[in-house]
Amino acid sequence: MRDILVAGNWKMNGSSTANAELVSGIIAGVPEGRGFSLLVCPPFPYLASVAAQAAGSAVSVGAQNVSEHQKGAFTGEVAPSMLSDVGCEYVIVGHSERRSLYGESSAQVAAKFQATQAAGMTPILCVGETLEEREAGTTEKVIDEQLDAVLDAAGVAAFGAAVIAYEPVWAIGTGVTATPEQAQDMHRHIRGRFEALNADIAASVQILYGGSMKGENAAGLLAKPDIDGGLIGGASLKAQDFLAIAQAAAQN
Ligand code: PEP
Repeated sequence: MRDILVAGNWKMNGSSTANAELVSGIIAGVPEGRGFSLLVCPPFPYLASVAAQAAGSAVSVGAQNVSEHQKGAFTGEVAPSMLSDVGCEYVIVGHSERRSLYGESSAQVAAKFQATQAAGMTPILCVGETLEEREAGTTEKVIDEQLDAVLDAAGVAAFGAAVIAYEPVWAIGTGVTATPEQAQDMHRHIRGRFEALNADIAASVQILYGGSMKGENAAGLLAKPDIDGGLIGGASLKAQDFLAIAQAAAQN
């Protein structure tokens, strides 16, 4: 039985004051229950303060991006060791906004995935298709290509210490959520790819769903056998919204 991970991607939102309030609200309201964990991913400048506030609580901290390089002349970039140094345990890699707005290639995403693991943190690898790709019937091909780039570079064993997030681009920030059946179909497809490679990893790898997940739809999504949590944007910015999803995870 896999644990559920409820992960908040704050994107470019927050301030020192708002973050402190949000984190204390989350910590104060962590639901009773076993088999789930909570993660928040603030913007870079706030990682250290949020990690300090969350230390010793049920809430872990992760970053939204990382450099694939270790150090040196990369102005504006943040090295994996720096994230680990300030208390990050996870890093989101390959979010569709990074791929589409900043031109991150699947090869670069694979390098970030490996750099994250080399620094002792867990990558959350995002994969997902656009609406055009879904309508063209190429969803599985797109997901396979995004996964293969990382499998080819890092090998299947690397997924023993990684999380996958299936995030249909058409559902991110749109208010349109994939139905539990649509999401389950893709999660099953992804797990099936791993079954063909390594049965143990297929059984253990957490596959999160992301795309307009909220309190009202979380229970239906989390009830599906291959959905092991959520990567949540908009609904992670208010403690009560995030906790409503955590509640669904605790009751799953
Ligand atoms: C995301 O940014 O990963 C995301 C899923 O956002 P939202 O929940 O707002 O759709």
